[in-house]
Amino acid sequence: MKYLGCAYYPEYWGVDRVETDAKLMKEAGINFARIGEFAWSRMEPQEGVFTLDWLNKSIEILNRYGIKVLMCTPSATPPAWLASAYPDTVIVKADGKRLEHGNRKHFCSTSDTYRRHCRRIIEVLCREMKKHENVIAWQIDNELGPEVGWCYCENCQSRFRAWLLEKYGSLETLNRAWGTGFWSMDYSDWRQVRLGSDPFHHYSSRNLDSKRFFSDMMIDYGMFQANIIRENHPGSIVTTNGMGPIYPHINYYQLFKDLDVACDDLYFDIGTMDADVAAMNVFRSIKPGKKFWITETGSGALDHNKPPHKKQFRAWAWSAWAHGSEAHFIFRWRTCLSGQEQELQGILEHSGLPRHRYQAVKECFNEFNDLAYELDRVSLPKAEVAIIQDYDVLWAYDSVRVGPAVNYLPLVYQIHKKLYARNILTDIIDPGQDFRKYKLIILPSMVMLDKEFADRLRNAVYAGATVFSIGQMGMRDKNNNYLPYPGPFELTDLFGIKIHGGMYLDSQVGVEEAIWTPEHRHGSVTVAVKGSVAGETLTGMASKWIADIEAIDCESLFTFQDEAYQYQPAVTEKRYGKGKAIYQGFLNGTVELEERIFDDILAQSNVQVKYQTPLHVEVVERDNFICVVNHLDRAVEVNIPSPVKAVLGTYEDGKCILEPYGVGLLRCI
Ligand SMILES: [Zn+2]
Repeated sequence: MKYLGCAYYPEYWGVDRVETDAKLMKEAGINFARIGEFAWSRMEPQEGVFTLDWLNKSIEILNRYGIKVLMCTPSATPPAWLASAYPDTVIVKADGKRLEHGNRKHFCSTSDTYRRHCRRIIEVLCREMKKHENVIAWQIDNELGPEVGWCYCENCQSRFRAWLLEKYGSLETLNRAWGTGFWSMDYSDWRQVRLGSDPFHHYSSRNLDSKRFFSDMMIDYGMFQANIIRENHPGSIVTTNGMGPIYPHINYYQLFKDLDVACDDLYFDIGTMDADVAAMNVFRSIKPGKKFWITETGSGALDHNKPPHKKQFRAWAWSAWAHGSEAHFIFRWRTCLSGQEQELQGILEHSGLPRHRYQAVKECFNEFNDLAYELDRVSLPKAEVAIIQDYDVLWAYDSVRVGPAVNYLPLVYQIHKKLYARNILTDIIDPGQDFRKYKLIILPSMVMLDKEFADRLRNAVYAGATVFSIGQMGMRDKNNNYLPYPGPFELTDLFGIKIHGGMYLDSQVGVEEAIWTPEHRHGSVTVAVKGSVAGETLTGMASKWIADIEAIDCESLFTFQDEAYQYQPAVTEKRYGKGKAIYQGFLNGTVELEERIFDDILAQSNVQVKYQTPLHVEVVERDNFICVVNHLDRAVEVNIPSPVKAVLGTYEDGKCILEPYGVGLLRCI
């Protein structure tokens, strides 16, 4: 791992403490400190009055200990004087109420006033920071997004209208695109158009465009800051810190496109281990061919809960390296005595003393440093499988009332977990990215798609790839309106099917079931599915949603056995050029049935399951290294068929032997 770091707050602890901290950091193998993201009130205590001595002195001390600095713009926490003097910089909620100072992220990103103040502090910081050789990178803001909600102020409303005018050109086109003929929704004046916020009562097209607008505005705000830094501190690395495995509010593929590195704040106790791995697969995929950074992770519990096992921190860090991270920043150096995140444990205790977490970090980081020369030159792991994750689809489902029934993101994670459980490395990519290199391309509920994507997909399959589509596919246009003809849009020839619609399997029609009277009572319906995989007859059940499929030019591998779609196709397959297009027209099938179908798809795609391990024991290959990580609290053995030599851990008789939370780093010979 090239960069081993921590978030450090000299503005809070005082410059007199920095020498002690820097010495302890160096001993712990830390070579990078992230500074300043919440320090605006200590940098500019009054408008236009800057106090940066503490910052300059702290950075000089860190430099003496060989510690580089990731400098942050402090705009995530505007100072109280700014909010009180310039209320137009503060978010207005959908109900018209303006937020107050006292939390964070309460700024309106489109406010010209706010941007003017941001520009001034960033320019001053750049002027100071470029004097320091160890300030090599910048973080824009902190975790961009609607932490306290999006802004609905009049400035944002008028920016939304301008955004729509640019997109549609006229109100007539907008009315047509949104299909406003129902419920008298036609607009006759631009001033009538406002941001949508309610998936149950606002037009779904309006909600979807609102989500696109909010994402675009936040990216615009991020790039506004990036451009100031690039003008004033050229040559530095410019980035920002993302969140999640799949952050639902900002299109990260767009956000990071013009930034230098994709960064994730990844606390391994937030998600299940497979979701954590999904996060790393997302951030590796965002900028193809580039290593990603973990800009925040915990050395202790994220909140006041049980901290990780003393070996678990190391297992997480090695998993991060295996998936392509080159930076591991701990949040934070020391547990704060006060504040909103008082219970979040730092590497040092609140006493300032190095105890258990410090030892765990020190052992792990120095292990990485000892191997740095070799590890930092290893190229990224290579995936044969890609899941297409489309923000338009995510937002489309979030904009309509049926969204929760389809459970788009849980479906993405469900598919990813099948691959994770088989130790198959997976890229999670945007539909605009190049997918020609993958053997298997997976489309989860891709309810809308465009012609350009359909053409590229057809070409990839013709050249030999397998595409596996599950759930709703190509049934709506890009404005979230259903198509006036059968789907899948532009893909009927590839899959050899027509999709006429589908059926949600949540029932209120039973004699004791009701939508309202005397109270809501519903039943869950399952529909039997029967067919064969590799010559073996299989049956199972489908739930949640089933597709109304008409076979045109395909083989029907499974059919529904009852309800309205009896004997209609449930899973179809078509050869297309050198590849294959497979469609599963149901969601939430019986686990065993879905697993068998999935194994068959992998076999047909020539994607090999090389390493069989218990769930949450990972094997990842990078160049001539094989990294084996045991996330379980019990010892395990993993068969490694190729001859290897252990760099870390134990390898005997063709097996990697791992203690609880153990790591094996094996070099192929
Ligand atoms: Zn606003």
